[in-house]
Amino acid sequence: MAKRDYYETLGVPRNADAETIKKSYRKLALKYHPDKNPGDKAAEESFKELGEAYEALSDVQKRAAYDQYGHAAFDARARAGRAGGFHDPFEIFREVFGGGSSIFDEFFGSRHDPTQPQRGDDLRYDLEISFAEAALGCEKEISVSKPERCEACEGSGVEAGSRTKTCATCHGRGQVISARGIFSIAQTCPACQGAGRVVEKPCVSCHGAGRRDHSSKIKLRIPAGVDTGSRLRSGGNGEAGLRGGPPGDLYVVLHIKAHEIFHRDGDDLLCEVPVSVVQAALGAEIEVPTLNGKAAIKIPAGTQSGTIFRLKGKGVKNVQGYGNGDLHVRIDVEVPTHLTSAQKAKLQEFAELCDENVNPISRGFLEKAKNLFR
Ligand SMILES: [Zn+2]
Ligand SMILES: [Zn+2]
Repeated sequence: MAKRDYYETLGVPRNADAETIKKSYRKLALKYHPDKNPGDKAAEESFKELGEAYEALSDVQKRAAYDQYGHAAFDARARAGRAGGFHDPFEIFREVFGGGSSIFDEFFGSRHDPTQPQRGDDLRYDLEISFAEAALGCEKEISVSKPERCEACEGSGVEAGSRTKTCATCHGRGQVISARGIFSIAQTCPACQGAGRVVEKPCVSCHGAGRRDHSSKIKLRIPAGVDTGSRLRSGGNGEAGLRGGPPGDLYVVLHIKAHEIFHRDGDDLLCEVPVSVVQAALGAEIEVPTLNGKAAIKIPAGTQSGTIFRLKGKGVKNVQGYGNGDLHVRIDVEVPTHLTSAQKAKLQEFAELCDENVNPISRGFLEKAKNLFR
C-alpha cells in the first residue's frame, strides 16, 4: 500500500505555514493518542503516521527535502523506526530536536554541487635539489602523473554522438538515503557522483571520467636563494577541473641536500677553512671557496682557531630580492701530524726559543686557574 502523503496525513495544504501544521498536528494527535484509544490498532497506526509526518514537516530542512524528494527522503528512517517498534512521537521529538544540530545539517550543510564546474585539486610534488642549485637558482624538469582533461571528449566524459540519461540508482536525485540509527542520511549517489545523470555511452578514452591520468613534463624555474621547505607554485599545473572547471595548482616543495663544506644560515653561509700553524702564526693569504669560485683573504699573523672573517655579499642571494647574505670563514688551525724526526727537531729547537709572551692565551689561562686554588 502506498504511503500517505504527509500533508494529507496532517490535513493541511502543501503551502501551510508552520503554525497551521502544528495546530493541526496537536488536534489530530490528541484524537488518535493511544491513551484515548486503548487497543485500537487503526488509531495507533494513525498516531504513528501523524508523528512521522509532523517530524518531517515541522523541520524546515526536512520539509524541503520531502517537498523535493517525497517519501524517498525518509525511507531508511521509516524502516529504522519500524524495526525499533512503536515510538511515541513525543519521545522522538525530544530526541531529534532536543539537542543542538541535527544530522541534517551535515547533509545540507556543505555539499559540492555535482552539476557545477569544479576546480581541480592542487598537487604537491617534493623535489630534492643540490645546495648550489638552491643557492644559485636553476631550471628543472619534473615529470608529474596527474588527471588531465581527456582530449577525446573534451572533458565531458561522453562518447561522441551519445547523450546523458537519468541515473537509475538515485532516479536523478543525486543522492541515496541510508540509515544511521533513527536518522537517515542522504549521501552523494555513488553511481553518478551526485550529478543525477549518467552517460549513456561513456567516452572510450577516459571511461566517462572526463579526465585521464597523464604523465606530463613540467619545466620549473627555481630562483636563487630557495631553502628547504620553500614552496613553488606552478599555476594551473595541478589536477584538471571537472565539468569545465579550472585546473588546480601544482606546489613544489623543495628539499636542499647538505653541502660538504658550506653550511647555510638563512642567506648567510658558513665555511670552516683549515690553515697551518705556520700560516696562522706568521699570517698568510689563503684561498677560500665561495659559491662562484675562489676568493683570497689575508689572515693576520697570530690568527687563532675560531676566528671568523666575513666576506660581505658572498652568501646566498635573498630569494625575495633583498640583496645577498655574507660568507663567514671560520679559521681552523691544524696541528701538524706525522712529523719526521727532522721536523720534530726543528719544533723542539723552536720551543726552546719560546718564552711566555709567545702564548699569551695559555699564560692567561694558567693564571686564572692558579687564582682558583688560592
Ligand atoms: Zn574522454
Ligand atoms: Zn545517481
